[in-house]
Amino acid sequence: MPVIGVKLVWRTGTPVQNRSYGETLEIVLDTQAPARFSAGAMGYATVGKEGTAIHVFYHRVRACPWPELTTALLGHVMVHEITHVLEDVARHSRSGVMKANFDGHDYDVMRARPLRFAAEDVELVQAHFGGANARIPEQR
Ligand SMILES: [Zn+2]
Repeated sequence: MPVIGVKLVWRTGTPVQNRSYGETLEIVLDTQAPARFSAGAMGYATVGKEGTAIHVFYHRVRACPWPELTTALLGHVMVHEITHVLEDVARHSRSGVMKANFDGHDYDVMRARPLRFAAEDVELVQAHFGGANARIPEQR
């Protein structure tokens, strides 16, 4: 299984101001989706002066037709949006967790194990951080 090579440090509380790219990522669980997003969108990521954040359309995750997959879907949407930040490019893959939309097959896979990263996603993230052996500074 491809390992993407990025370690996240999770904290709760008030987000700290970004000191530089990649140090802090805010996770927002939204209860409404802005009108500019399609009905199937589950979230979005922002990187810029206003800060680095992912937004999860939590009401859509909760509306998953298979309640037993709600937690798995939430995790996958979070990973998907965080990976957009880590790849630093707006793109999707044809398979894996970075697909634009999860389909029935993906939900079947989620019942057994997490969706994987496509090889190109592993390469993009690792290239962005200087290679597979690059050390990502840890947040303190
Ligand atoms: Zn996406």
